[in-house]
Amino acid sequence: MRTASAFLAALCLSLISCAGEAPQRVVDDTALADVSQGDVWLGFGRTYDEQRYSPLAQVNDGNVGDLGVAWYMDLPEDRSLYGTPLVADGVMYFEGSYNVLRAVDASSGELLWEYDPQVIEHAGDRLRIMWDVSRGIALYKGKVYVATVDGRLIAVDARTGTEVWSVMTLDPELPLFVTGAPKAFRGLVVIGNGGTELGAIRGYLDAYDAETGERVWRWYTVPGNPADGFENEAMAMAAETWTGEWWKYGGGGTVWHGITYDPEFDQVIFGTGNGSPWNQKIRSPGGGDNLFLCSVVALDARTGEYRWHYQTVPGETWDYNSNMDIVLADLTIDGRAVKAALHAPKNGFFYVIDRRDGRLISAEPFARVTWATGIDMETGRPIEAEGARYEDGEEVVWPSAVGAHSWHAMSYNPGTGLVYIPAIDFAGGFSDRTVDLGSWQSPRWRFDAGVDPLITDVPADAGSSTLKAWDPVGQRLVWEAPKPGIWNAGTLTTAGNLVFQGQADGRLLAHRADDGQVVWGFDLGLGISAPPITYAVGERQYIALLVGWAGSAPALLGSATAQHGWAYKAQPRRLVAFALNGEVELPASSPPAFPEPLVSDEFVADPALARAGEETYVRVCWLCHGPAAVSGGTAPDLRASPILLSRTAFLNVVLNGSLRGNGMPRFPDLSESEVEGIRHYVRSLVADSE
Ligand code: CA
Repeated sequence: MRTASAFLAALCLSLISCAGEAPQRVVDDTALADVSQGDVWLGFGRTYDEQRYSPLAQVNDGNVGDLGVAWYMDLPEDRSLYGTPLVADGVMYFEGSYNVLRAVDASSGELLWEYDPQVIEHAGDRLRIMWDVSRGIALYKGKVYVATVDGRLIAVDARTGTEVWSVMTLDPELPLFVTGAPKAFRGLVVIGNGGTELGAIRGYLDAYDAETGERVWRWYTVPGNPADGFENEAMAMAAETWTGEWWKYGGGGTVWHGITYDPEFDQVIFGTGNGSPWNQKIRSPGGGDNLFLCSVVALDARTGEYRWHYQTVPGETWDYNSNMDIVLADLTIDGRAVKAALHAPKNGFFYVIDRRDGRLISAEPFARVTWATGIDMETGRPIEAEGARYEDGEEVVWPSAVGAHSWHAMSYNPGTGLVYIPAIDFAGGFSDRTVDLGSWQSPRWRFDAGVDPLITDVPADAGSSTLKAWDPVGQRLVWEAPKPGIWNAGTLTTAGNLVFQGQADGRLLAHRADDGQVVWGFDLGLGISAPPITYAVGERQYIALLVGWAGSAPALLGSATAQHGWAYKAQPRRLVAFALNGEVELPASSPPAFPEPLVSDEFVADPALARAGEETYVRVCWLCHGPAAVSGGTAPDLRASPILLSRTAFLNVVLNGSLRGNGMPRFPDLSESEVEGIRHYVRSLVADSE
């Protein structure tokens, strides 16, 4: 296990403490492509292939029972956490809430430096969705790259934590935000953004010069108005697949996750988002495939020119975006060596794609799927089920808009040949009965996808989830393990025949990679949304992860996620590292907490105001505070808040931003009567629950 580089890492660490600076390994394209260096975790998915597989085996299925806490770091100011830390030369870099970047000693957790990009100040009133969270950072040639939720891409000196450059990657007038991890390769840093449900958005992927921050290329994912001319041939081709006046709605297709650099073909492969709005009847009323929505796209990494694409959901109308991980793997299929891209997007199918040309090799459902009955291998197109497009106004289909798999990391173990997928079994109702399809207009910073909004709470037993071990060659399930709730975290797999996964119930489990048997577990006392990583310092292998409940399901799905008791700020947030024979005692977490609706005789809700308030609530408040005001833990449960008993106090929060420091933005576009309606709506729910 001990390698020359691990020895050097230990030496560097001692130099850091003695001399204040140390020679550092150059994190360049060669290092990021080198799968043999187990002591480091240099990129989001460890190496360029995004496999989240480590060759380390000091911790293995025979001794994992001896795993204990080696060190931990309390993060009292943090809240939502789901990022992937990076490790180089014994230093761990990670992002906490609001993109605060920290470097710590990876063998002790001692803080080396901290960089705060002041997200609340920069975002201002735009801090409205996914407002404090990021999936990760990039490390490249002595700099750490942070993409802030308000849309800046920032280069920070990896040694000192000082800012080197900062650029704005989006138009601040548009309802866009960034939660994804930037990726760095061949002197570039690429980043996309998200936000298709809040306004007329046209997705794109940007590449910036890693040294200067200058933009090198931008590739739009959907065509703009033909009258303005097309940026390139790919956009002209895509425009042939749209109908009506799609550009008025932006089209969508944001690149908010799932960006992979493929050094063997010098291409960047990424997934694209859903339509804006979701409902194709509005967006492209005459139908059409609507390229390049819900697609896997490859561009020349140097120039950003189109190479190939495979569209997973032609003419998408269910929010079935294809933004999930794209994992590179060398497979042998029918005796032939295949350079494959593996992809398990929201729509429930597992795709194996040939990276040379984007040709579909195989596709099978890995979860319950009813919107399509299969993929036609002649055409590569899904065989859609009758009625799935809610042609008659409504339909229930599997999966839901949450997806059969979301951004939670899947991993691939070349030893077992299996892919480990955090999978969700959850149906979605799609309806547009209350939507005026002919006069619908894009919202501005309000949630409106051109379908009926979710008004009622989501029951605790509305769905289920599993960890699935999937054979990508045979396209079959090898084993699966049931998991609590529906929102379990990403996976890590190792040469020690292990798969690690954090769960919604707060436990971190190790499964045997070949047969799924649970061989170790540890209760971290708070729902886990982040994937674990592994690395080594000197002779010792560590498993580390951020502990913090976060993501769209805890924000959007009420009791389906509130059931775990991870109420807003109720439990401590931490970074925790485990090692064999780790003996540090982790202070006990706070017990599960369930906010009690605040009953009061002081306030009587007006039914007419409450009805109007419901309409505003589902457009503005639901995104963080949950359906029917049942919070899954991302934001306070408004039914339990005394602020809503006072008209003045509530107006002060919503219109004047009196809790802005907590991440609650101002909503200057709301009228006083709209705010009052929200208050009456939420209080009417409390009265109903008595
Ligand atoms: Ca979406």
